[in-house]
Amino acid sequence: EEQNNIFRKQHNISVLGKHVPAPIESFSELSSEPYKLLPRLLQNLLNYGFAEPTPIQMQALPVLLANRPLMACAPTGSGKTLAFLTPIINGLRTHKTSGLRALVLAPTRELAQQIYRECVELTRETGLRTHFISKVSEARHHYGPECKQKYDILVSTPNRVRFLLQQQPPLLDLKRIEWFVLDEADRLMEEGQNNFKEQLDDIYGSCTHPQKRVAFFSATYTVPVAKWALRNLKNLVRVTIGVQNS
Ligand code: ADP
Ligand code: ADP
Ligand code: MG
Repeated sequence: EEQNNIFRKQHNISVLGKHVPAPIESFSELSSEPYKLLPRLLQNLLNYGFAEPTPIQMQALPVLLANRPLMACAPTGSGKTLAFLTPIINGLRTHKTSGLRALVLAPTRELAQQIYRECVELTRETGLRTHFISKVSEARHHYGPECKQKYDILVSTPNRVRFLLQQQPPLLDLKRIEWFVLDEADRLMEEGQNNFKEQLDDIYGSCTHPQKRVAFFSATYTVPVAKWALRNLKNLVRVTIGVQNS
């Protein structure tokens, strides 16, 4: 444990929570116990050619692969996308026709689309299928009752997801969501205009799977996100890279 703390300090990683899993030093560690990452996923990850994980990846990957809820704060450009997509993909493993099992929300369509693209790369040859809502008007065709359950992972903005949930009959079924991830959670939860809070509560309430995993990622540590996470998530781990500004 002391060695873990020395390593964390070297990489500016601070953690809060009980029994926080040890950080990883390299991606290749993920091939062995206790992670046993899906071989194809590991290969996709190694194909990026990154020399080592970024600090947020070092700590967030073990936490999420251990199925712990996470609030993660790390600067822009520090590789947060891979830190949440990798555990989602590893958890889902392979395509199922039962319907959506992972939901990733971002504050803008552009950000959602970037995540979608990265997810397509990382799911290559795993069989997993990802969808990005580009036209809500086509949702019926993509997920409606008359279509086969095509996708495993949905990446979108809160507006669009809520719109689809509110249709009669609803055009989205989130009952089987096992992974609920908010990217840029600080922006999604900030007060004021364009407030996503109500939409998020609606969407979160529709994700009724009893073993749902929840992760929040943002660039800054903010009180609304921390409050929500502490109130709603048992066994929460908080990871902050760099100086904690709150
Ligand atoms: P963030 O969401 O934290 O702003 P991104 O996930 O968008 O950051 O990643 C920023 C850039 O860093 C991307 O181009 C990504 O491919 C790259 N990247 C991700 N992980 C690593 C890594 N371990 N080493 C080097 N670059 C990485
Ligand atoms: P856009 O490219 O303008 O985002 P979409 O194809 O996503 O359009 O959506 C098509 C239509 O669905 C919109 O013009 C709007 O009428 C409706 N719509 C989308 N999101 C919402 C929402 N959150 N609330 C109400 N209507 C919505
Ligand atoms: Mg990001």
